[in-house]
Amino acid sequence: MEIKVVRKVLDANEKMAEQNRALFKDKGVFVINVMSSPGSGKTTILERTLNNIMPGIKTAVIVGDVSTTHDADRLAKSGAPVVQVNTDAFGGDCHLAAHVIENAASQLDLDNIDLLIVENIGNLVCPAEFDLGENLKVVVLSVTEGEDKPVKYPLMFRVCDSAILNKIDLLPYLDYEKDLAVESIRKIHPDMPVFEMSAKTGDGFDAWTDWLKRCVSEK
Ligand code: MG
Ligand code: ZN
Repeated sequence: MEIKVVRKVLDANEKMAEQNRALFKDKGVFVINVMSSPGSGKTTILERTLNNIMPGIKTAVIVGDVSTTHDADRLAKSGAPVVQVNTDAFGGDCHLAAHVIENAASQLDLDNIDLLIVENIGNLVCPAEFDLGENLKVVVLSVTEGEDKPVKYPLMFRVCDSAILNKIDLLPYLDYEKDLAVESIRKIHPDMPVFEMSAKTGDGFDAWTDWLKRCVSEK
């Protein structure tokens, strides 16, 4: 019974996602969906990404949180149009769904946007199941989390197109085995690009933005 209900929700989401995909394609907007657990540094990565790729790539952001506009306020400083979605208005969902993206995107001037970045709600479980109509999915992991996160949350690492290993500036202070984390990602998704970086210091950042720029230009 319960499985049936979940199936229905996901089927309805899939339909809406296809509709979003058609709209974004029609408008020439490339869409990426950035996911991670809370506190991995998504917003800091996006702040630096926006500063790096704009104004060359006209970028907008949809940022999801259960509550507050803190992340949107930070990202709006870049000059990019930002729409904050708070899910506490509709039950505090722990993921963004396709209809939420449709609604948020309707507040943006898609004709003037090349790249739409979705910062999903901090959660490694259900965001992996909800197609938003995006072109690429990216997962962020930080070195303050367990090296075995990828094998614990395999679906997320299976569905994503690239992974970012963030906060490498902290490695000297931690007993973190970076190679083990990368190996753990490879176990789930052998050929996925992994970008090791510090969004704080900018170390390793160019490989990520070079990849992103290439993806956007090849759209
Ligand atoms: Mg954030
Ligand atoms: Zn959820």
